Amino acid sequence: MKDMLNFTVGPVMSSSSVRAIGQEQVPYFRTPEFSEIMFENERLVKRFAHAPEGSRVVFLTGSGTASMEASIINVLSPKDKAIVVNGGSFGERFVELVQLHGIEHQEIKLPFGHSLTAEHLEPLAGQGFTALVINMHETSTGVLYDMDMVSRFCKANNLLLIVDAISAFLADPFNMEALGADIMITGSQKALACPPGISLIVLSPRALERVAQSETRCLYLDLKSALKNGERGQTPFTPAVGTLLQINQRLRDIDAAGGAEQEIERVKALAADFRQKVANLPFELFSQSPSNAVTSLHPTKVSAYDIFTIMKDEYNIWICPNGGALRDEVFRVGHIGALTPADNTTLIEAMQDMEKRGLLG
Ligand SMILES: *Cc1c(COP(=O)(O)O)cnc(C)c1O
Repeated sequence: MKDMLNFTVGPVMSSSSVRAIGQEQVPYFRTPEFSEIMFENERLVKRFAHAPEGSRVVFLTGSGTASMEASIINVLSPKDKAIVVNGGSFGERFVELVQLHGIEHQEIKLPFGHSLTAEHLEPLAGQGFTALVINMHETSTGVLYDMDMVSRFCKANNLLLIVDAISAFLADPFNMEALGADIMITGSQKALACPPGISLIVLSPRALERVAQSETRCLYLDLKSALKNGERGQTPFTPAVGTLLQINQRLRDIDAAGGAEQEIERVKALAADFRQKVANLPFELFSQSPSNAVTSLHPTKVSAYDIFTIMKDEYNIWICPNGGALRDEVFRVGHIGALTPADNTTLIEAMQDMEKRGLLG
């Protein structure tokens, strides 16, 4: 395949140290040496997520959705009543999951691109809800929710807080302990900037208690057995061993460069650099509260999907298209992965060239 510059939201570009591991033989994994790597992965993820004392991490072989589903079926039960925030296709996925697994729920449906406000939550206080399920960053629209506000509501109403931070972890500040979050989910192909294949769940002590009491409803996604195996640095089934080694490299690289906060600052600066450079082009910002991970843009005169196709075919650049109702309305530019300000400039020059050719209207 051609060398492409990749501004999508996953898979994203990996560093050379992560890519080098992809060239090596995949080792056998039922060994103390591999267990040590898994323990280190768990330690570093907990530190970077600011997980409370006594938390655990499970690594599932499956994309982010596998960990979303595992969280719903192992932590919630038909006795729960959940609030689900739905601001786009990832919120919609949680709605489908609670429906499929028979969890009573109320959906907060937001118009695409809109923030969640206290006015959405307040009417739901004192109504017998037991859990709140949210994608911290609705990647499909680029909206970052106000997690401090969500946290205050959950604490005041004693709700379990399940956070899909798949595209937010290592891109936007996240403090699991301060938020009182019980579940934090992420995936290998977003800001972790590794190949796809692994998703992971950080569980608070309260979530661990729930898992221990849960009825087993799925063999592959059973967190009781994942946690039990994790005590010896192992997984119940063959994991994506190569991706776990790449995750280890990436976590250690982040640690050596100053830790999660440093990495988040880097992504934030890259997003700011792009937003400043793109300001003179005929696009409108689509998100009311943009994340550091993504800038979602609405071209005012032409189809967003056509811009994606021309960038791909004529400039060897992938920007991220939208699907469904937003296909022609919105495209996204990611700031996660091994990108630099010089890469932003390359993309901006391509956009300026398209403008000159009359392709932006
Ligand atoms: C990428 C992403 C997912 C998971 O998608 P998969 O394709 O299953 O990895 C879930 N939620 C959010 C917010 C995401 O950005």
